[in-house]
Amino acid sequence: MQFCDECGSMMHTEGDAWVCRSCENEASRDADTEADMTTRDGQRDDGAPAVADATQGTEETMQEPCPADGCDSEQAYYEMMPKPGGSYEVRLFTCVECGHKWRET
Ligand SMILES: [Zn+2]
Ligand SMILES: [Zn+2]
Repeated sequence: MQFCDECGSMMHTEGDAWVCRSCENEASRDADTEADMTTRDGQRDDGAPAVADATQGTEETMQEPCPADGCDSEQAYYEMMPKPGGSYEVRLFTCVECGHKWRET
């Protein structure tokens, strides 16, 4: 945002210059102002890693022996799945060791 030195009106960018539409005063755009805006944009992008948070929040582990052959894992990720046509949910397990998936029976 830049204001005209001559009349105080808000100026508009036109190429490399600020142009006042009230009195037709012109000023070259300040390089320092441009640098400040670039820095501020960069900081805005450095937010919390939302993707990592989402993946960590959706899966929880519980003690559940893996039924896969040759796997002796006792821990599995689980998520609740709506049972088709039913009113309650069934757990869907994913083995933390081998990635085998199975349903609660
Ligand atoms: Zn002006
Ligand atoms: Zn397993």
